[in-house]
Amino acid sequence: MTLFDAHTHLDAMAQRSGVPADDGFVASVMSQAREVGVVSAVTVGDTVGSSRWCVAAAANHPNVYAAVAVHPTEIDGLDDTDYAELEQLARDPRVVAVGETGLDYYCDRTAPAAQQEHFRRHIALAKTVGKPLMIHDRDAHADVLRILREEGAPEQVVFHAFSGDADMAGECVLAGYVLSFPGVITFKNAPALREAAAVVPLEHLLVETDAPFLTPHPHRGKPNAPRLLPLTAAALAEAVGVEPESLAAAVMENGFRVFGIPQK
Ligand SMILES: [Zn+2]
Repeated sequence: MTLFDAHTHLDAMAQRSGVPADDGFVASVMSQAREVGVVSAVTVGDTVGSSRWCVAAAANHPNVYAAVAVHPTEIDGLDDTDYAELEQLARDPRVVAVGETGLDYYCDRTAPAAQQEHFRRHIALAKTVGKPLMIHDRDAHADVLRILREEGAPEQVVFHAFSGDADMAGECVLAGYVLSFPGVITFKNAPALREAAAVVPLEHLLVETDAPFLTPHPHRGKPNAPRLLPLTAAALAEAVGVEPESLAAAVMENGFRVFGIPQK
Protein backbone atom coordinates (compact mmCIF):
# COMPACT_ATOMS: atom_id res chain seq x y z
CA MET A 1 0.00 0.00 0.00
CA THR A 2 1.41 3.38 -1.03
CA LEU A 3 0.21 6.91 -0.32
CA PHE A 4 0.62 10.38 -1.80
CA ASP A 5 0.83 13.37 0.58
CA ALA A 6 -1.01 16.04 -1.40
CA HIS A 7 0.03 18.98 0.79
CA THR A 8 2.93 19.43 3.15
CA HIS A 9 5.43 22.14 4.16
CA LEU A 10 8.90 20.60 4.35
CA ASP A 11 10.55 24.00 4.96
CA ALA A 12 8.19 24.82 7.84
CA MET A 13 8.86 21.36 9.32
CA ALA A 14 12.58 22.09 9.46
CA GLN A 15 11.94 25.53 10.90
CA ARG A 16 9.66 24.10 13.58
CA SER A 17 12.32 21.53 14.52
CA GLY A 18 15.04 24.19 14.57
CA VAL A 19 17.17 22.41 11.97
CA PRO A 20 18.41 23.67 8.57
CA ALA A 21 15.94 23.09 5.72
CA ASP A 22 18.60 21.44 3.58
CA ASP A 23 18.73 18.43 1.27
CA GLY A 24 19.68 16.11 4.12
CA PHE A 25 16.56 17.13 6.03
CA VAL A 26 14.27 16.58 3.04
CA ALA A 27 15.92 13.21 2.28
CA SER A 28 15.46 12.02 5.86
CA VAL A 29 11.81 13.13 6.07
CA MET A 30 11.02 11.40 2.77
CA SER A 31 12.88 8.21 3.68
CA GLN A 32 10.98 7.96 6.99
CA ALA A 33 7.78 8.51 5.00
CA ARG A 34 8.70 5.84 2.46
CA GLU A 35 9.16 3.30 5.27
CA VAL A 36 5.42 3.51 5.95
CA GLY A 37 4.44 3.67 2.27
CA VAL A 38 4.21 7.44 1.78
CA VAL A 39 6.14 7.60 -1.48
CA SER A 40 5.41 11.10 -2.82
CA ALA A 41 4.62 14.54 -1.44
CA VAL A 42 3.81 18.02 -2.68
CA THR A 43 5.70 20.63 -0.67
CA VAL A 44 3.76 23.87 -0.70
CA GLY A 45 5.03 27.44 -0.67
CA ASP A 46 3.35 30.19 1.33
CA THR A 47 5.63 33.14 0.44
CA VAL A 48 7.78 33.91 -2.60
CA GLY A 49 10.87 32.78 -0.68
CA SER A 50 9.20 29.60 0.48
CA SER A 51 7.98 28.92 -3.07
CA ARG A 52 11.53 29.31 -4.35
CA TRP A 53 12.68 26.83 -1.66
CA CYS A 54 9.97 24.33 -2.67
CA VAL A 55 11.00 24.40 -6.34
CA ALA A 56 14.63 23.73 -5.37
CA ALA A 57 13.58 20.86 -3.05
CA ALA A 58 11.54 19.31 -5.86
CA ALA A 59 14.46 19.66 -8.26
CA ASN A 60 16.71 17.73 -5.89
CA HIS A 61 14.28 14.99 -4.78
CA PRO A 62 12.48 12.94 -7.44
CA ASN A 63 9.59 12.00 -5.09
CA VAL A 64 8.94 15.62 -4.02
CA TYR A 65 6.83 18.00 -6.11
CA ALA A 66 6.27 21.70 -5.51
CA ALA A 67 3.38 24.15 -5.32
CA VAL A 68 4.03 27.89 -5.42
CA ALA A 69 1.98 30.85 -4.18
CA VAL A 70 1.66 33.43 -1.45
CA HIS A 71 -0.68 32.50 1.39
CA PRO A 72 -3.60 34.92 2.01
CA THR A 73 -2.14 35.91 5.37
CA GLU A 74 1.27 36.71 3.78
CA ILE A 75 0.14 39.06 0.97
CA ASP A 76 1.24 42.34 2.54
CA GLY A 77 3.50 44.16 0.07
CA LEU A 78 3.10 41.55 -2.66
CA ASP A 79 3.71 43.39 -5.95
CA ASP A 80 4.02 42.87 -9.70
CA THR A 81 7.69 41.90 -9.42
CA ASP A 82 6.70 39.13 -6.98
CA TYR A 83 3.99 37.92 -9.34
CA ALA A 84 6.49 37.83 -12.19
CA GLU A 85 8.76 35.62 -10.10
CA LEU A 86 5.82 33.44 -9.01
CA GLU A 87 4.87 32.94 -12.65
CA GLN A 88 8.42 31.99 -13.54
CA LEU A 89 8.50 29.51 -10.65
CA ALA A 90 5.04 28.17 -11.51
CA ARG A 91 6.24 27.30 -15.02
CA ASP A 92 8.94 24.98 -13.63
CA PRO A 93 8.15 21.41 -14.72
CA ARG A 94 8.45 20.20 -11.09
CA VAL A 95 5.69 22.60 -10.00
CA VAL A 96 2.35 20.80 -9.95
CA ALA A 97 0.04 23.51 -8.57
CA VAL A 98 -0.42 27.19 -7.80
CA GLY A 99 -1.03 27.23 -4.05
CA GLU A 100 -1.64 27.69 -1.38
CA THR A 101 -3.88 30.63 -2.11
CA GLY A 102 -7.37 31.54 -1.06
CA LEU A 103 -9.04 33.30 1.84
CA ASP A 104 -8.42 33.18 5.58
CA TYR A 105 -11.01 35.10 7.59
CA TYR A 106 -9.86 33.48 10.83
CA CYS A 107 -6.55 35.32 10.82
CA ASP A 108 -7.09 39.10 10.87
CA ARG A 109 -3.57 40.04 9.78
CA THR A 110 -4.70 40.91 6.23
CA ALA A 111 -7.97 42.56 5.16
CA PRO A 112 -10.58 40.42 3.35
CA ALA A 113 -10.71 42.83 0.38
CA ALA A 114 -6.94 42.54 -0.17
CA GLN A 115 -7.09 38.76 0.26
CA GLN A 116 -9.81 38.55 -2.38
CA GLU A 117 -7.85 40.66 -4.85
CA HIS A 118 -4.77 38.44 -4.48
CA PHE A 119 -6.87 35.27 -4.62
CA ARG A 120 -8.18 36.47 -7.99
CA ARG A 121 -4.63 37.10 -9.21
CA HIS A 122 -3.58 33.59 -8.17
CA ILE A 123 -6.57 32.09 -10.01
CA ALA A 124 -5.46 34.00 -13.11
CA LEU A 125 -1.89 32.78 -12.62
CA ALA A 126 -3.02 29.13 -12.41
CA LYS A 127 -4.92 29.56 -15.67
CA THR A 128 -2.00 31.35 -17.34
CA VAL A 129 0.44 28.53 -16.56
CA GLY A 130 -2.19 25.78 -16.97
CA LYS A 131 -1.69 24.21 -13.53
CA PRO A 132 -4.10 23.20 -10.76
CA LEU A 133 -5.17 25.73 -8.14
CA MET A 134 -4.61 24.64 -4.52
CA ILE A 135 -6.93 26.48 -2.18
CA HIS A 136 -6.63 27.51 1.45
CA ASP A 137 -10.12 28.24 2.80
CA ARG A 138 -10.47 29.12 6.44
CA ASP A 139 -13.87 30.44 7.58
CA ALA A 140 -14.44 31.80 4.08
CA HIS A 141 -16.39 29.03 2.29
CA ALA A 142 -19.03 31.23 0.60
CA ASP A 143 -16.56 33.82 -0.70
CA VAL A 144 -14.10 31.18 -1.98
CA LEU A 145 -16.85 29.44 -3.96
CA ARG A 146 -18.26 32.76 -5.21
CA ILE A 147 -14.89 34.06 -6.42
CA LEU A 148 -14.15 30.77 -8.18
CA ARG A 149 -17.49 31.12 -9.98
CA GLU A 150 -16.89 34.76 -10.84
CA GLU A 151 -13.38 34.24 -12.15
CA GLY A 152 -14.04 30.88 -13.78
CA ALA A 153 -12.16 28.07 -12.05
CA PRO A 154 -9.04 26.50 -13.57
CA GLU A 155 -9.49 22.99 -14.92
CA GLN A 156 -8.24 21.43 -11.67
CA VAL A 157 -9.09 22.85 -8.26
CA VAL A 158 -7.97 21.24 -5.00
CA PHE A 159 -9.37 22.32 -1.65
CA HIS A 160 -6.47 21.75 0.71
CA ALA A 161 -7.41 20.81 4.31
CA PHE A 162 -11.07 20.76 3.36
CA SER A 163 -13.10 22.09 6.29
CA GLY A 164 -16.63 22.46 4.90
CA ASP A 165 -19.72 20.41 5.71
CA ALA A 166 -21.46 17.75 3.60
CA ASP A 167 -23.45 20.38 1.68
CA MET A 168 -20.32 22.22 0.66
CA ALA A 169 -18.55 18.97 -0.20
CA GLY A 170 -21.46 18.10 -2.49
CA GLU A 171 -21.27 21.52 -4.14
CA CYS A 172 -17.52 21.12 -4.70
CA VAL A 173 -17.94 17.67 -6.25
CA LEU A 174 -20.62 19.02 -8.57
CA ALA A 175 -18.22 21.75 -9.68
CA GLY A 176 -15.54 19.11 -10.37
CA TYR A 177 -13.26 20.15 -7.51
CA VAL A 178 -11.04 17.74 -5.60
CA LEU A 179 -11.11 17.67 -1.79
CA SER A 180 -7.99 16.98 0.23
CA PHE A 181 -8.57 15.82 3.82
CA PRO A 182 -6.12 16.49 6.66
CA GLY A 183 -5.45 14.94 10.09
CA VAL A 184 -8.47 16.76 11.49
CA ILE A 185 -10.56 13.84 10.19
CA THR A 186 -9.00 11.68 12.95
CA PHE A 187 -10.24 14.02 15.69
CA LYS A 188 -13.06 12.83 17.92
CA ASN A 189 -14.71 16.26 17.69
CA ALA A 190 -14.87 16.30 13.89
CA PRO A 191 -17.96 14.24 12.97
CA ALA A 192 -19.10 16.92 10.47
CA LEU A 193 -15.86 16.51 8.51
CA ARG A 194 -16.35 12.72 8.35
CA GLU A 195 -19.92 13.29 7.13
CA ALA A 196 -18.54 15.60 4.46
CA ALA A 197 -16.00 12.98 3.33
CA ALA A 198 -18.76 10.38 3.12
CA VAL A 199 -20.47 12.23 0.25
CA VAL A 200 -17.30 12.58 -1.87
CA PRO A 201 -16.76 10.02 -4.67
CA LEU A 202 -13.34 8.32 -4.50
CA GLU A 203 -12.07 10.05 -7.65
CA HIS A 204 -12.51 13.47 -5.98
CA LEU A 205 -10.44 12.62 -2.87
CA LEU A 206 -6.92 13.43 -1.79
CA VAL A 207 -5.28 13.09 1.60
CA GLU A 208 -2.60 15.29 3.16
CA THR A 209 -0.61 16.08 6.26
CA ASP A 210 -0.21 19.88 6.01
CA ALA A 211 2.88 19.09 8.13
CA PRO A 212 4.05 20.40 10.53
CA PHE A 213 0.43 21.40 11.24
CA LEU A 214 -2.84 19.47 11.77
CA THR A 215 -1.17 16.44 13.39
CA PRO A 216 -3.48 13.40 13.44
CA HIS A 217 -4.66 11.62 16.59
CA PRO A 218 -2.96 10.20 18.70
CA HIS A 219 0.03 12.47 18.03
CA ARG A 220 -1.78 15.81 18.51
CA GLY A 221 0.43 18.39 20.15
CA LYS A 222 3.53 17.10 18.37
CA PRO A 223 4.70 18.34 14.94
CA ASN A 224 3.14 16.55 11.99
CA ALA A 225 5.18 14.76 9.29
CA PRO A 226 4.47 12.86 6.04
CA ARG A 227 5.21 9.57 7.89
CA LEU A 228 1.99 10.12 9.91
CA LEU A 229 -0.18 10.23 6.76
CA PRO A 230 -1.36 6.59 7.08
CA LEU A 231 -3.32 7.52 10.25
CA THR A 232 -5.23 10.18 8.33
CA ALA A 233 -5.72 7.91 5.33
CA ALA A 234 -7.15 5.17 7.58
CA ALA A 235 -9.64 7.59 9.17
CA LEU A 236 -10.61 8.90 5.73
CA ALA A 237 -11.15 5.35 4.44
CA GLU A 238 -13.42 4.61 7.39
CA ALA A 239 -15.41 7.83 6.87
CA VAL A 240 -15.84 7.07 3.16
CA GLY A 241 -16.67 3.43 3.86
CA VAL A 242 -13.95 1.70 1.87
CA GLU A 243 -10.97 -0.52 2.75
CA PRO A 244 -7.74 1.39 3.46
CA GLU A 245 -6.15 -0.32 0.41
CA SER A 246 -8.85 0.99 -1.94
CA LEU A 247 -8.57 4.49 -0.51
CA ALA A 248 -4.78 4.43 -0.87
CA ALA A 249 -4.97 3.25 -4.47
CA ALA A 250 -7.52 5.96 -5.28
CA VAL A 251 -5.56 8.83 -3.73
CA MET A 252 -2.35 7.69 -5.44
CA GLU A 253 -4.07 7.65 -8.80
CA ASN A 254 -5.86 10.94 -8.09
CA GLY A 255 -2.62 12.60 -7.01
CA PHE A 256 -0.89 11.66 -10.25
CA ARG A 257 -3.91 12.60 -12.36
CA VAL A 258 -4.83 15.91 -10.66
CA PHE A 259 -1.24 17.14 -10.49
CA GLY A 260 -0.47 15.93 -14.01
CA ILE A 261 2.42 13.68 -12.96
CA PRO A 262 3.27 10.95 -15.46
CA GLN A 263 2.98 7.52 -13.77
CA LYS A 264 6.11 5.46 -13.98
ZN1 LIG B 1 -0.64 24.37 4.11
